[in-house]
Amino acid sequence: MPQRSTRMSVLVSTLGFPRIGPRRELKRALESHWSGKTTEAALLDSAASLRAAAWKRQKAACVDHIPSNDFSLYDHVLDTSVMVGAIPEIYGWKGGPVPLQTYFAMARGSRGAIDGACAAHGHRSAVHGLPAMEMTKWFDTNYHYMVPEFGRGQTFSLGSTKPVDEFLEARQLGIHTRPVLIGPVTYLLLGKSKDPSLHPLALLRNLLPVYVEVLRRLWSAGADWVQMDEPALVLDIDDATRAAFETTYATLASEVPGLKLMLATYFGALGDNLAVALKLPVAGLHVDLVRAPEQLAPVLDGAPKDLVLSLGLIDGRNVWRADLEPLLARSEAAIRRRGTDGIVLAPSCSLLHVPVDLAQEDGLDEDLRSWLAFAAQKVDELSILGRALNEGRDAVQDALVASSWAAGARRVSTKIHDPAVRMRLAAVTPTMSHRQGAFEARRALQRQQLDLPAFPTTTIGSFPQTEAVRKARSAHAKGALSDGEYQAFLRRETETAVRWQEEIGIDVLVHGEFERNDMVQYFGEQLAGYAFTKHGWVQSYGSRYVRPPIIFGDVSRPEPMTVGWSSYAQSLTQKPMKGMLTGPVTMLQWSFVRDDIPRLETCRQIALALRDEVVDLEAAGIRVIQIDEPAIREGLPLCKAEWKAYLDWAVECFRLSASGVADGTQIHTHMCYSEFNDIIASIGAMDADVISIETARSKMELLEAFTSYRYPNEIGPGVYDIHAPRLPPVEEMAELLVKAKERLSADQIWVNPDCGLKTRRWEEVKPALVNMVEAAKRLRATA
Ligand code: GLN
Ligand code: ZN
Repeated sequence: MPQRSTRMSVLVSTLGFPRIGPRRELKRALESHWSGKTTEAALLDSAASLRAAAWKRQKAACVDHIPSNDFSLYDHVLDTSVMVGAIPEIYGWKGGPVPLQTYFAMARGSRGAIDGACAAHGHRSAVHGLPAMEMTKWFDTNYHYMVPEFGRGQTFSLGSTKPVDEFLEARQLGIHTRPVLIGPVTYLLLGKSKDPSLHPLALLRNLLPVYVEVLRRLWSAGADWVQMDEPALVLDIDDATRAAFETTYATLASEVPGLKLMLATYFGALGDNLAVALKLPVAGLHVDLVRAPEQLAPVLDGAPKDLVLSLGLIDGRNVWRADLEPLLARSEAAIRRRGTDGIVLAPSCSLLHVPVDLAQEDGLDEDLRSWLAFAAQKVDELSILGRALNEGRDAVQDALVASSWAAGARRVSTKIHDPAVRMRLAAVTPTMSHRQGAFEARRALQRQQLDLPAFPTTTIGSFPQTEAVRKARSAHAKGALSDGEYQAFLRRETETAVRWQEEIGIDVLVHGEFERNDMVQYFGEQLAGYAFTKHGWVQSYGSRYVRPPIIFGDVSRPEPMTVGWSSYAQSLTQKPMKGMLTGPVTMLQWSFVRDDIPRLETCRQIALALRDEVVDLEAAGIRVIQIDEPAIREGLPLCKAEWKAYLDWAVECFRLSASGVADGTQIHTHMCYSEFNDIIASIGAMDADVISIETARSKMELLEAFTSYRYPNEIGPGVYDIHAPRLPPVEEMAELLVKAKERLSADQIWVNPDCGLKTRRWEEVKPALVNMVEAAKRLRATA
C-alpha cells in the first residue's frame, strides 16, 4: 500500500540526480555493450547499480522525496517516447514492450556506425542503415534530447513500464521514491509533427490515456507523489497551450484521484503563466527561485491554501556552493505564510546539469573548492536547510557557519577580484567596439593587401586530430613525452598541413589546431579566472559527456595564447595564415559561469582578453584572424522578450574582441548551425569582414535569411558537409556555389567547409578539399 504520510515537518526533495555515475560508469557500460563486448544483461545490471547508488546517497542525506525514473540509458525524452509508444515507423515496432535494440536504434541509428560527430559542439553524423532520431538542445542547457516525432495518424500505447519498474526496484531496496515523468504538454511541445498541418498538441487527447494508465499503475504500485515536469510553463505560450494544461491536469486529477502530482517548472519564471499554473488541480507546484527569485512573492500570494509549494532554492544549473543563511530566511518566511506542511525544499531543477561529486576533485585550489558544490553537495545543502528548519539551527550550526564563512571569503577573495581587470572594464568606451573604417573601406584595403582571387578558399581551422596527435598529447600530459619532443611533433604536424594546403592551392591557410585539446579548454587553461576539474563531467547527449571549465574569477590574459603557433605557421608560407580564436560568447556559454556578477560582465572581461590576443596576432604579422562564435545562438534566452538585451551584449562583446585592429586586418567569424532567420540582423551587426556558416546539408536553403536581410559583408556558405564521411564531388560543390551566387553577389562569396575538420580522417579530408578548390576554380572560370 502507498505510504501516505502525515507530517509536521518541512520536506526535502530532489528533482533528478545525475545518471552518469561519479566516474562515468554509465558511459563505459554503454560503450562496451554497443561494441559487443558485454551483454544486454550486463548493461542493465550496471544501470541498476548506478540507480541504487544514487538513491542510497540521497537517502543517506535524508532526502524525503527521492526521484525515480530520472535515470535513463540515453535520454529521458526518448524514454518518454518509448513509454507512450511514439516510435517512428521506420524502426518497425509492432506494439508490446519496446526492445532495447529499438531504443538504441532510435537513439543512435542502427548498426552503430555513427562516428564523425562534430565533437566541439555535440552534433552528430548521419548514419548508415537506420538513421537516428533528430536531436536538439533541452531548453537553454547543453543537454541534448531526442526530438519526438509524430507521424500522420499518430496513436499512442504503452511501450514501456520503466517508471513503474524503477519505482518497484527502489522499493525493493527499501526506498520510497517520487517517480518523475515529463508532463504530457511539455512532451508534445518538444516533439515535431511530420505532417505540417498537424500541431503536436492536437495529439493530446490520444496521448492522455497512456499517461492515465502509467499513473494508475504507479498508484497501484504504491506511489503517493509523482513529479510531472512541465518546464514548458516558463516559455512564451499561447492560449491554446494554456488550455491544453487545463485539460491535461483536469483529466489526470479525475482519472487518478488520490495520486498527488508535483507540477515541476524550472529554468525561469512562470510569468504570464502563473495564474494558469496556480489553478491546475495538482497537489504541488515547484518553482525555480534561482533563475526567478522574484516569483516567490506572487506565488505565495496566489497559491490556493492546500497547494504544496516546492521551493527551488539550490542552483541546479551551476556549481556554486549556496550561502545557506539567506535561503533559510526565505524558507522561514515562506513557512510563516504556508505552514511547514505547505513547503518542500528543492534544487531549482534536476541536478542532471551539474557534475556528480566534488569530493573527487583533489587537484583544485583549496579556496575554490570551498566555494563549489556539485550534485552530491547540493543534496547535502538541502538536507542542512531541512534540518535547520525541522530541528532548529543548533542541530546544524557548524554547517551553517561554514557556509556563511565560505560565502564571505569568496566575496572578498583576491583570487576572484582583480582590480586591474575592473579598471580596464570601467575604461571601455563605445568606440572600442567599432572598427576604424566602414566595411567598404576595410574591404578595399584588405583586397589590396591580401591579394586574393575571386571566391577565395579557406577552411574553418582544425585538421584531423589523428590517433598520433591524440597519443602524443596524452603521452605529453603523462610526462612520457618531454615538452621539447611534443613541440617538435606539433611543429612537424603543422608544417605538413601548411605544405599540403599550399600544394592543393588553398588561398587562406590555417595551422590546423593540432596543439588544441578543445576549443574552449585550450584558451581557458591560459586565462586567469578559469579552473578545470578532473571528473566534473556532465551529460551532453547519450554517452557523450563534457567537462565544462569553471569561470571563478575576473578573467585576464597573462600572456599571448596563440601567437607562437600562428607566427610559426605564417613563417612557413607567403600565403595569408589565419589566426584562430574562440570568441567571448562561446567561451562563456560552454563554461560554468560566476553567479556573483552578471554574465555580460564576465563576457566583457573575456572579450578584452581576446582583444589583446587579436592585437598581438596582428602585430606578429597575422593579417586574417577568425574569432569562432558557434555558441551565440544557443545563448538566446527562453523568452523572446529577453532576446534583444542578450543579443546586444553578445554582439558588443564580439566586436570588443575584434575591433582593436587596423582596417587592413581581416576579421572572420564562424558559426555552425542552420537557423539564422530570427537573429540575422544581430549577426550582421557583429560586423565581421567574413562569416563562414553551415549550409551544405540544407543545400544552401538557409541562405534565404541572408538574402531577405541583404547581408552586407563577405560570407562563406559551407559547401562540404563535414559531419558525414562521404566525399562530395566537384560538381556538387560547384552547384552549391552556383546556388549561393543566385542569392548573394559574387564578390561576397568565400568557399569553405561547414565546420572544422578535426573529427574527420585525412583520407576523407584530402580528396574533399581538393574537390573544393577545384569547384572554386570552375566558378572563377565562369564568373
Ligand atoms: N576553429 C574550430 C575548428 O575548426 C571551430 C569549431 C566549431 O565551429 N565548433 O574546429
Ligand atoms: Zn563549426
